Amino acid sequence: MRTIIEPFRIKMTEPIKLISREEREKALEKAQYNVFFLDAEDCCIDLLTDSGTGAMSTEQWAAMMLGDESYAGSKSWKKFETTVQEITGIKHVLPTHQGRAAEHILAQTRLKEGDVIPNNSHFDTTRANIEYVGAQALDLLCSEGFDTTSEFPFKGNMDLQKLHDCIEINGVDKIPFCMMTVTNNTGGGQPVSMENIRAVKALLDRYGIPLVIDACRFAENAYFIHENEPEYRDKTLLEIAQEMFAYADAATMSCKKDGLANIGGFLICNDDKWAEDFRNEFILREGFPTYGGLAGRDLEVIAVGLMEALDYDYQVYRHATVTYLGNKLQKIGIPFVKPIGGHAVFLDARAFLPHIPPLQYPGIGLVNTIYVDGGIRCVELGSVMFGRTDEQGNEVPAPLELVRLAFPRRVYTQSHFDYIIEVLEEVWRTRGKIPGYRITYQPKFLRHFSCRFEPIE
Ligand SMILES: *Cc1c(COP(=O)(O)O)cnc(C)c1O
Repeated sequence: MRTIIEPFRIKMTEPIKLISREEREKALEKAQYNVFFLDAEDCCIDLLTDSGTGAMSTEQWAAMMLGDESYAGSKSWKKFETTVQEITGIKHVLPTHQGRAAEHILAQTRLKEGDVIPNNSHFDTTRANIEYVGAQALDLLCSEGFDTTSEFPFKGNMDLQKLHDCIEINGVDKIPFCMMTVTNNTGGGQPVSMENIRAVKALLDRYGIPLVIDACRFAENAYFIHENEPEYRDKTLLEIAQEMFAYADAATMSCKKDGLANIGGFLICNDDKWAEDFRNEFILREGFPTYGGLAGRDLEVIAVGLMEALDYDYQVYRHATVTYLGNKLQKIGIPFVKPIGGHAVFLDARAFLPHIPPLQYPGIGLVNTIYVDGGIRCVELGSVMFGRTDEQGNEVPAPLELVRLAFPRRVYTQSHFDYIIEVLEEVWRTRGKIPGYRITYQPKFLRHFSCRFEPIE
């Protein structure tokens, strides 16, 4: 059969409602044009993020009841530890309340002012945690990653030459570790090939620099390797994940992504000294190291979810839904990042709205119009999220102006996707009327979460 079906049926429903256009306009004005301030109730289809928004399986709900809430050494912790070790083969496992807590502890214990951390692309919270301690977060993405029309299958790859030059210029002492983000959320959810991970590891080994994997979407990345690297065709996703982690010395993880959980994360490493430093910081920040920032029931849910994310049929279905949307957008002529990433479709706001200059934030214009036109919430990944200030204090736009439609796992059905397509087609037809925006308030770090805007007349 050609039709790919959801490999599950629905046992519990949650109502959603589309409020009127006038109500949506009012809600957005009240939110000062930042969709992070909208009430979720007012967002009929919420594609703000795929983080922590997934639906749990019957196995996960059942596992929840098994949660052992003992303060130290609980049964749930043992299950969590065993599962994480089975997938990663990494020795020390520390549960955190979410991914950024792992990043925070990593940055606090291993970085000092003036250090340089290369990555294919840092996620926003990773960058913020690194910069917060006065270190520099460098993005060394391969050139294909900047071409939104390139069909290269591994656009999340690290540029090996740039990495080599970065190490030679800064010196080993300034680089306590190198990171790799799989898949590359910032650059369009694009995967990293096993070949690239292996080559990065080999290069780092020559200098004795440890590799830390930002593993949030490790299962989606394993799926892409399975589909697009011929030598992995006959491997299971678990075997592929195991090989990916075999090249890592440590990893940070948000279980709100490929943990198929609503909360949670972990920090893992092989080095005993690193682990000791992490544990000391842990007690202060997250809790006793066998529960971290989590309840026993969360540990149970994640242990099940990590393995469910590696289920091949689940990944086939997930990619089929995202690809379905991409193919329809292609037919309409809407510009988006190709090939389609793992967890989201990224609209190219610069090509969509060429009349809006980057520092009038075309991505914000597009996000706000999609909300007003269809009650769909999505997010800007452009100059608001990734723009920076240079030494002279001038705002530098981000290399790409993207709008991300991120898909919660196992939540929306095909008719929801058909609705999204209809809304986007309408926005595309009337795009000439979309305004740019100016920022009226912004904080120092992670400004996209809490800055305010007004439309430019
Ligand atoms: C979500 C995410 C994080 C941060 O995880 P949280 O659980 O949101 O704190 C870090 N890196 C990447 C690539 C992510 O997608």
